[in-house]
Amino acid sequence: MEVLFPGRCLLCGDWLLLAGDHCVPICDACKEKLRPLSGPRCGRCGIELISEKGTCLRCRTANYSFDSNMSLFPYSGAAKSLLTAMKFGRRTRLAPFFAAHAVDSLRACGPSGAVIVPAPPRRGRRTPDAVELVARALERNHGFTVLRLLARSGFVQQKSLDLERRRENLKGKISMASGATKRVLPREAVLLDDVFTTGATLDACARALREAGCASVKAVTLVIED
Ligand SMILES: [Zn+2]
Ligand SMILES: [Zn+2]
Repeated sequence: MEVLFPGRCLLCGDWLLLAGDHCVPICDACKEKLRPLSGPRCGRCGIELISEKGTCLRCRTANYSFDSNMSLFPYSGAAKSLLTAMKFGRRTRLAPFFAAHAVDSLRACGPSGAVIVPAPPRRGRRTPDAVELVARALERNHGFTVLRLLARSGFVQQKSLDLERRRENLKGKISMASGATKRVLPREAVLLDDVFTTGATLDACARALREAGCASVKAVTLVIED
């Protein structure tokens, strides 16, 4: 029975038939409900644009260190449930699902193939780290190069802070991992993170990479908050 019915759908609880792809624990009906972002988006942070054109209001003053961000899903509905299940429910089998959805955005970052730099895991975080799980799936299933160049020190509670407060909080907390500066840095790096909230984390990551010598730093994130 376990071979034919490997488990229940993480979103609706229905039994799953053993299906092709990566044996992701989501039924076909729920997969339909996942709405990848597709409308007009801010050229910088990737948020969906409603009335603005080209660049959103925040990005006109934010002066981010990264060139652009592309998020796969809005941080709501089914995508939010799945990310929560992966991060806090230890549903590690969801990592290949998010990785598969990230492939096109990553390939769009550079014709020569993106070199992925994961945002460093939060200290004291329950393992396994969601970003690291997705990075591993991108390496293993899709042949991407992943360089773990960044490290984080200290614990920063960022909830409910705006961009400037978060930036202040993160100062000096994200830097090149020990030994990383001696390695060959990619000219073009693509940061990988789970949630884009204010962009402060990606900004700090991109700043560290640029100071180390990266010429271009783009980002791909799994979800973006409104
Ligand atoms: Zn379902
Ligand atoms: Zn923007």
